[in-house]
Amino acid sequence: MSWKPSGEESMRRKRHEPIPPESLDEPFGPPPEEYLYRCPVCSEEMLVNEAIIDVAIGAAKFRGEYQGRMPTIGCPGCNGETMEYVDQES
Ligand SMILES: [Zn+2]
Repeated sequence: MSWKPSGEESMRRKRHEPIPPESLDEPFGPPPEEYLYRCPVCSEEMLVNEAIIDVAIGAAKFRGEYQGRMPTIGCPGCNGETMEYVDQES
């Protein structure tokens, strides 16, 4: 048995380090609040994270369009700000 260290080969090989997912650093918190939005134009429905709604409210306030209710969200189907909040209280 003749074992040769293949140092040259491993030197040529690029180091591939896996990137640790940053989300693992955060402890499990409460699930984010999501709101159902629906587009009256193309009937697209989706759950919108409250963080996104906060941003939309901020943008509406900035434009002076905020009316104190749920803002409209951009629709991925129409590419317009047509998504409206669906009140699910029943
Ligand atoms: Zn739409």
